Amino acid sequence: MDIKRRNFLKIAAGGGLLLAGGVPAMAREPKKLSPEAVGMLYDATACIGCRACQTACKQHNEMPVEHSTPNSVWDDPVDLSSKTLNIIKVYATGTALNKDSETDGYSFIKRHCMHCVDPACVSACPVSALKKHAQTGVVSYDKGACIGCRYCQLACPYNIPKFEFDKPFPQIRKCQLCDHRFKDNKYSACCEFCPTGASVFGKVSDLLAEAQKRLTLKPGEYYNYPVAHIKSAQVSYRPVAKYLPRIYGEKEGGGSQVLMLAAVPFEKLGMPALDEKSDAAFSENIQHTVYKGMIGPGVLLAGLLFAAYKNTNKSDE
Ligand code: SF4
Ligand code: SF4
Ligand code: SF4
Repeated sequence: MDIKRRNFLKIAAGGGLLLAGGVPAMAREPKKLSPEAVGMLYDATACIGCRACQTACKQHNEMPVEHSTPNSVWDDPVDLSSKTLNIIKVYATGTALNKDSETDGYSFIKRHCMHCVDPACVSACPVSALKKHAQTGVVSYDKGACIGCRYCQLACPYNIPKFEFDKPFPQIRKCQLCDHRFKDNKYSACCEFCPTGASVFGKVSDLLAEAQKRLTLKPGEYYNYPVAHIKSAQVSYRPVAKYLPRIYGEKEGGGSQVLMLAAVPFEKLGMPALDEKSDAAFSENIQHTVYKGMIGPGVLLAGLLFAAYKNTNKSDE
């Protein structure tokens, strides 16, 4: 049976209700974006696919190189992994000669954590190893609290958290918006080192205003694209592409702190088509119901002990 990721928790809800003795799991109200929330705007039409962001991400997060093709000597990840937190992918069709075109064209797309406004990974984690910062909204990970259940992987609608299967003491790895750099007045390395302004960092409210403004520009008209930071004086002056009238992340999955613009439909670029409501409100109640008073794990442990006791008795006989 093909069980889709987003249906898993709904199916698990049934089990949760049984485990918790029939306590109903009601969805809570969706969470709202903090006015201080920070994030980034990725504009696929401004991206030249140089992958400076990918390299900067590795360097500033001390991530190892990844050899995905035989005998490769450089970092060549094919997707996000426990070694790669940020990747530039390419959509290509037909002759692939025209940038940002659905016909005989190509487009880049940048993939990493979206820092959801109401993150399903946070809601699904039974031990609060994933947390959303109250002011910045950054979704960060605490390896000390993690029990390796990987519920976050199942819950994330963007397939972002990755598990270190190759390590004796594995962790979940995902982009944390370079929040370790904030204390030094720095921000996301992928934005700082993006030469074109395709990835810019800033307050989500400013990023959204910038994205809305870009959608009002005429294709071909010249525009000063801010580089690195939305408030930066450094700009890249160049013609505007023909945007699709959509800001991905404004509403998808309850909204995210990473916003995107493109000229090719996002679904073609590999972004999921999500409802405007986050699944987090639902999954959180399931987790709180199942784990309330550790009823679920308690029932599971009792079952395992009973099975072990029966097997021991059988072998004694
Ligand atoms: S994209 Fe996935 S991992 Fe990132 S905050 Fe959203 S649910 Fe969590
Ligand atoms: S914000 Fe930092 S961790 Fe996240 S993709 Fe950019 S460089 Fe990598
Ligand atoms: S550094 Fe900027 S232009 Fe280069 S691939 Fe990354 S987002 Fe695109």
